[in-house]
Amino acid sequence: MTRYSIPATGGNPSSRAQGTTPGSFANAARVGTPWAFSSPDAPGMPAPSERTAWDFMPPGWTRGADGRWRAPAGFQPITQLEFARTGVVTPEMRRVAEREGHLTPEQVRDEVAAGRLVIPANKVHLAKSLDPMAIGRASRTKINANMGASPVASSSDEEVEKLRWAERWGTDTVMDLSTGGDLDATREAIVKHASVPIGTVPIYSMIIGRRIEDLDEAAVLESLEHQARQGVDYFTIHAGVLREHLPFVANRLIGIVSRGGSLLAKWMLHHRRQNLMYELWDEICELMRRFDVTFSIGDGLRPGGLADATDRAQLAELETLGELTERAWRHGCQVMVEGPGHVPFDQIEFNMKLQRRLCHGAPFYVLGPLVTDMFPGYDHITSCIGATAAAYHGAAMLCYVTPKEHLGLPKRDDVKQGVVAYKIAAHAADVALGIPGSRDRDDELTRARAALNWERHFELAFDPDLARAYHDEDLDVDTDFCAMCGHDWCSVRISKEIAEFVSGKDPEYAWESARVSEALTEEQREILERRGVLSPEEIHRLAGKTRRAVGASRGARAACHSDVASDTQAHRIQAERLDPRTLEPLSEA
Ligand code: SF4
Repeated sequence: MTRYSIPATGGNPSSRAQGTTPGSFANAARVGTPWAFSSPDAPGMPAPSERTAWDFMPPGWTRGADGRWRAPAGFQPITQLEFARTGVVTPEMRRVAEREGHLTPEQVRDEVAAGRLVIPANKVHLAKSLDPMAIGRASRTKINANMGASPVASSSDEEVEKLRWAERWGTDTVMDLSTGGDLDATREAIVKHASVPIGTVPIYSMIIGRRIEDLDEAAVLESLEHQARQGVDYFTIHAGVLREHLPFVANRLIGIVSRGGSLLAKWMLHHRRQNLMYELWDEICELMRRFDVTFSIGDGLRPGGLADATDRAQLAELETLGELTERAWRHGCQVMVEGPGHVPFDQIEFNMKLQRRLCHGAPFYVLGPLVTDMFPGYDHITSCIGATAAAYHGAAMLCYVTPKEHLGLPKRDDVKQGVVAYKIAAHAADVALGIPGSRDRDDELTRARAALNWERHFELAFDPDLARAYHDEDLDVDTDFCAMCGHDWCSVRISKEIAEFVSGKDPEYAWESARVSEALTEEQREILERRGVLSPEEIHRLAGKTRRAVGASRGARAACHSDVASDTQAHRIQAERLDPRTLEPLSEA
């Protein structure tokens, strides 16, 4: 027995409570409250807001004696939030519940009504190819992949190809951040081909062919309406950068790093006026409501380096994002809020919990954050460390960062690296938060690994081709060990021997001979060639050599410690040495 007490646990991420771990150390899952799948607060963290979207109802709604809200006569719900407020479970909410598994359609509706869950589903995109999904802390953590042509690289076709690639690797949403080429055609093509929600930052297209100084209210509304009609599911709008926040960035090491934030700051300085997006907010809300475009309220003053994190500029803007959230809810719009960026690891929890308080639980959508600035080329790694912590402490969606961040436009393989890194971050957080069923595939893979069942191991792997190729690079037979430790030091094989020893030899795992791997597929061969360490011929020559050295030639079985005893001898030894009831060793006497 250990003398240490185990922390109070949250839900068990394994559906069948498999294994020996007590489960998640997060708070108990409390779907329907601000604590749904939440981390325990470190001392000094802001408590959740006591208010929700129910506290920011549109004018004309009344609350009956039964506590239920009633819409004004003749009211026609359009957005998912409005349907939820009227008690309706939409087909999109049903689909979300089906995809989440651990939520009922009614729970989805109630979370949407509280403003803690959004279903970004523009009516236009919904009528085409969109498969509805949800973003919020009660659901699994989602990830977003950015793409888009820049003025110096890429085209619509390449961007659609990247969209397919990002979907293939499991991104939950895609943002088209094109700033070059034919923006309109690229956006149209991406929405048409996407089954995931598409987000944009509309200010990019507003300044094509005009200087930012010439942007006016009419151009803003016209551009937003055009993109809404195209079917864009969520808009990033940097309405929270206010004129009075600008002095706070003066002493930053890297100023304003958000494109939208810097453009609007320039506009405000030029016109000596308040941010026009802020002033137009109510009109923008009305427009977005008509199509049910979800807000992703942009953080134009997010820090661009650790030295500027959690500073006055960032926090002042976050307070404004809270105010904009309340106003958008009053218009019946769905809202999520964007967050940083570059944040030291120790400040991440505070950032997440402050947003939860100021924005009353509206889903937080964060970029990374990167937890160090000095590894360009590896920023998918530096940021997914921060992203895991962010999701554990409250973020609902993680915007990926690719190895090309800060350096250039991501190519196909960079998109894959970014998406995979973020699938890992999101999944790790879901398991830690105790989301039911989130660990089931891990457990299945662990079983396959323990059984040294290589086929199943690769089948369950997130990237089966990569796993198979790496295995076969050194050893092209599936036997009771791999090339990492070799036969005599394979702890899994030795553990299996121990298990077999106490339980009798298990015929399921006792192979007569090593299994020769199927030849590498073209994709697996490519993976090895890209590694560029050895040529495929060389790889197979070496793998064959390893195979012979371990005695695992075709038809033969690799020698095994347990082979010193035949099956009959093994059973006799067991009978002599183990108590048949307890399987404990019998005493020497
Ligand atoms: S050889 Fe080492 S790495 Fe390979 S299966 Fe055995 S214990 Fe695992």
